[in-house]
Amino acid sequence: MKRKLTEELLARKNPDGTPALSVLTDEPMSNHTTFRIGGPAEYFIIPHSEKDLLFVLDKLKEEDIRTFILGKGSNVLFADEGFRGAVVSTLSLDRVTVDGNVVAAECGASLTAVARHVARYSLTGLEFAFGIPGSVGGAVYMNAGAYGGEMASVVERTRTVDPFTGIIRTYEREEHEYGYRESVFRGKNEVILSTELSLSTGNPDEIEERMADYLERRQSKQPLEYPSAGSVFKRCEGRFTGQMIEEAGLKGLTVGGAQVSNKHAGFIINVGGATARDVLELIEIIRKTILDRFSCSLECEMICVS
Ligand SMILES: Cc1cc2nc3c(=O)[nH]c(=O)nc-3n(C[C@H](O)[C@H](O)[C@H](O)COP(=O)(O)OP(=O)(O)OC[C@H]3O[C@@H](n4cnc5c(N)ncnc54)[C@H](O)[C@@H]3O)c2cc1C
Repeated sequence: MKRKLTEELLARKNPDGTPALSVLTDEPMSNHTTFRIGGPAEYFIIPHSEKDLLFVLDKLKEEDIRTFILGKGSNVLFADEGFRGAVVSTLSLDRVTVDGNVVAAECGASLTAVARHVARYSLTGLEFAFGIPGSVGGAVYMNAGAYGGEMASVVERTRTVDPFTGIIRTYEREEHEYGYRESVFRGKNEVILSTELSLSTGNPDEIEERMADYLERRQSKQPLEYPSAGSVFKRCEGRFTGQMIEEAGLKGLTVGGAQVSNKHAGFIINVGGATARDVLELIEIIRKTILDRFSCSLECEMICVS
């Protein structure tokens, strides 16, 4: 069954005869996540165009194979046991076009690369995203944000496909139902194909200054020298989660290879050989301590996949 699907997918060719898809079997997810954690996925598939992505989704549906869409893997924790099914990577779908103040980006485009690209056109509004290590699709899905900005303020419309019906639909700005790290897409099965961002014309020097400032703040405050998935928890009723974790004396707390960062208590870092089990155990200790001490129930921002 596994080999047959692999052969069928590998048989798909570009007009010049080269394979249209990359297909790996039993591929460790630790190779594709910023946490460097996660067991093998039965299939890891990289379509190189939107057409090929639609083909893959259709094939997986036909074969009734469980599917997970992965962007840059910067907000996910895969189980040590891996993933029974197919992980489909969007990273080759990375086209970006600029037309006036409107930026159209495919789902796999790097958010930081898009922020850098639009700055060259003196477009402002996306500076906050410079340094967020996600894809456009992941950022639209999570309503990624930083330094007072968020995707909700720039996303104009998003095209998605429902993998079960193959129906492609466009969501207009107000239909994204954005909230803090929330969107209409969370909990839905639709795959984000591309997004249009609406930006404004700005002063190029000020845009550059803001991006440099945000990057500097990240580098000085975040433990970027270690693998992580960024801030593990959402904010808790207006309180800074990292501050509560620090006040509770949990900085440096370690389970196996997972550690509460000494630099930024909101981050759990992989100090070497961390397993998903280590991270989950550490999360439970943090949640229980913060609940007891601050009566605050921490919710994970990171997506756990098993
Ligand atoms: C060092 C560091 C700093 C970070 N700083 C920030 C920050 O300042 N602000 C912030 O908001 N986040 C931050 N993050 C978290 C993360 O980068 C963002 O949430 C980012 O938007 C996730 O994008 P991704 O492509 O990596 O998504 P992934 O981790 O690959 O996936 C996240 C979720 O999105 C879904 N998804 C991805 N692509 C699609 C698609 N095309 N269609 C449908 N669903 C999709 C996945 O299925 C998954 O459920 C940080 C992470 C790290 C490691």
